[in-house]
Amino acid sequence: MNNKIVFITGASSGIGAACAKVFADAGAKLILAARRNERLQELVEKLNLKPSEFYLLELDVRDRKTVESAISSLPSEWSAIDVLINNAGLSRGLDKLYQADFQDWEEMIDTNIKGLLYMTRYIVPGMVSRGTGHVINIGSIAGHQTYPGGNVYCGTKAAVKSISEGLKQDLLGSPVRVTSVDPGLVETEFSEVRFHGDRDRAKKVYQGMTPLTPDDVADVVFFCATRPIHVNINDVILMPTEQA
Ligand code: NDP
Repeated sequence: MNNKIVFITGASSGIGAACAKVFADAGAKLILAARRNERLQELVEKLNLKPSEFYLLELDVRDRKTVESAISSLPSEWSAIDVLINNAGLSRGLDKLYQADFQDWEEMIDTNIKGLLYMTRYIVPGMVSRGTGHVINIGSIAGHQTYPGGNVYCGTKAAVKSISEGLKQDLLGSPVRVTSVDPGLVETEFSEVRFHGDRDRAKKVYQGMTPLTPDDVADVVFFCATRPIHVNINDVILMPTEQA
């Protein structure tokens, strides 16, 4: 990974921030993107990165024009992206489908599906023309099994699974790899975001079991990214031992 360029969306917290650490420790150069720029600044200070080792992008992946312009305006020394980690994502609510909030649906679909598609569409052509690259999508166990109230979130992660498989088919014949890393419960800000900032409700999600940590997921992402070039890990499901 030394001097490879790794682009991580949703790097301002949780799994994305943990990926930043593991790749930085291995000598990668990081493009870190999220909406909360101050959190990205805190992260690079915490990781003690030199200015030449990171590039920050305040970016809302839902906005196609912004994604296009952010990627096309990358300085030339940052434009040859080796690994794209499509991690930005969220869940909103656990409401029954027929009672849910439309805004919640739009946020999930626009971020988890369309945001991931925009990033992929603008970055993969460069990988194909350079003949090297790896797209790692953070899916979820929710893309494999649906739980009560999970309806639309699970739908978005099932879409991520299909999109990862479809992209892999489209890239056959090129050396660009595609991997989906699909975790079960990970303790991050995810539950707090899901419940619109209700911390007490969020904490209850993790009661009675030891969830995965963001570092557990980052280790798997790193493992996938560092296999020999002829090895593509298509899909990894990692679960807390106690989760059904
Ligand atoms: P966090 O809430 O800790 O992190 C989510 C990240 O996504 C934040 O950095 C946030 O940054 C970013 N993000 C959200 N919306 C946007 C947007 N529109 N544009 C750019 N960045 C955005 O949760 P996790 O680390 O847990 O989530 C990371 C991924 O892991 C998600 O795709 C999630 O679905 C998936 N996942 C999580 C599981 C869990 O149990 N936690 C289980 C399985 C999968 P900012 O707000 O600054 O923009």
